Amino acid sequence: MSNYVIRADQQLLDALRAHYRDAFIDRLPPGALFAVKRPDVTITAYRSGKVLFQGKAAEQEARKWMENHVAPKNKPENENRVKAAALSEQKLGNLSAIGSDEVGTGDYFGPIVVAAAYVDRAHLERIMALGVKDSKLLSDEAITRIAPAIMETVPHAVNTLDNPKYNRWQQSGMPQTKMKALLHNQTLAKLVDAIAPIEPEAIIIDQFLERDPYFRYLAGENRIVSERVHCLPKAESVHVAVAAASIIARYVFLEEMERLSRTIGFPLPKGAGAVVDEAAARIIHERGEKVLATCAKLHFANTKKALSIAKRR
Ligand code: MG
Repeated sequence: MSNYVIRADQQLLDALRAHYRDAFIDRLPPGALFAVKRPDVTITAYRSGKVLFQGKAAEQEARKWMENHVAPKNKPENENRVKAAALSEQKLGNLSAIGSDEVGTGDYFGPIVVAAAYVDRAHLERIMALGVKDSKLLSDEAITRIAPAIMETVPHAVNTLDNPKYNRWQQSGMPQTKMKALLHNQTLAKLVDAIAPIEPEAIIIDQFLERDPYFRYLAGENRIVSERVHCLPKAESVHVAVAAASIIARYVFLEEMERLSRTIGFPLPKGAGAVVDEAAARIIHERGEKVLATCAKLHFANTKKALSIAKRR
């Protein structure tokens, strides 16, 4: 029996996963993403990117994946899928694609907003010319200026998880990453429906989870958008649709923060620092603790700090 190891990047892992999907086994060794058993070869892919081929056909099977990440030719039914998954990032950037991104996950006050945007390959340059880049690189003022133009030009969908619902989900034991997964999937489904019959050549999620745990969180959903989905780190620099989505999400978040600030009666700070503790303490002091649940993510450590500040007043 021979062993053969190759190193795989995310796209090759995606391609392997798609190609061997029918032969997955359930019992995984520690650190494994997936494992495959075939009569003459066992394949184990690890989180580290290591892929181990074992058995008579180990080397032969491994070699298929070392040349250009292209799928074996004798499996036409898988080919499109594998090709899509194995596309280089540069190629991805030139496709007609949906991108999605979220904002608000690290902010004590305000909702989580997920946005998805579709940019046709014929419009890539026009969208870039609007000044679209990662929203984290743009000031709030620039976001407010650019976002309306993007939203007018680009088909998009938005989902807002307000604080009361966020707190309910959180108190039911749902991790924030699952909330994000559910919201991304819903937002993508909305946009896929909105642009039909056009089909995006790729769907690119700014990675907050790898593909496997992402899809595991969606297991209970009625509708799962899974075709041509890529979860890529720093995806806003891979495709302008992700950058557009990040700007739209940020813009909607800023608007929502303004609305909440008007309701509360003073400007709510972003982030989760000491200024936020003070603002939360002021809300408790002036409006009572219950009001926090309408505008804040209660499980953050800020709540405790704010309560002790408010007590001292
Ligand atoms: Mg992101």
